[in-house]
Amino acid sequence: MIAAGVAAAALICIDPGHGTPPAIGAQTEPIGPGSSERKIKDGGGAHGEAAVALAISKRMRGLLLARGYRVAMTRTGPTIHLGDGDGNVARAKFCNRRHAALMVRIHADGSPDRSLHGISTLVPAWHKGWTDDIYTPSLRAGRDVQKAVVASTGALDRGIVRRSDLTGFNWANVPTILVETGFLSNASDWKLLHTPSYQQRVARGLSAGVAAFVKP
Ligand SMILES: [Zn+2]
Repeated sequence: MIAAGVAAAALICIDPGHGTPPAIGAQTEPIGPGSSERKIKDGGGAHGEAAVALAISKRMRGLLLARGYRVAMTRTGPTIHLGDGDGNVARAKFCNRRHAALMVRIHADGSPDRSLHGISTLVPAWHKGWTDDIYTPSLRAGRDVQKAVVASTGALDRGIVRRSDLTGFNWANVPTILVETGFLSNASDWKLLHTPSYQQRVARGLSAGVAAFVKP
């Protein structure tokens, strides 16, 4: 039974990294509100990253819905259609507008050093006027999610990384984290990230981490 006036369930905003943007408009955007420093909207990501990020994100959505959360996704197919320039500013604003309890950005790493493997979680560095309001809850969410994903997958724990240079963090007004779910440049991680049962383990860890951070 749902009582009248009961608060709506917490909304989790899932942002699958990359995806094909409509080939229109400026290719760069300001790195933070009011900044003259501009950064490319989407460097394209590691080879195959957009599809892997989407597959994990869809599994995560199913698990979060089953736990009773509301879920919004910045894209549900290969292309991104947010308007607003379709860059990382648009992704952040999409989650801001929905007053997300948490924005979870799903990515995979790539490196010229093919021996690198494992999982890390990026969080916003503290920046007055940009991330000071979301710094502490984002760090807490990052720690909760990193711990749960490592536990669920058994992957190498590469820890938490504070980043000041990510447009999608600097425009966010809601707690936000970015999970690098493995290295597509590493043969073993590549295989795992393309295996449905492993994608599900990653998604299970992500949703358990979300649940540790915020109740539905
Ligand atoms: Zn990426």
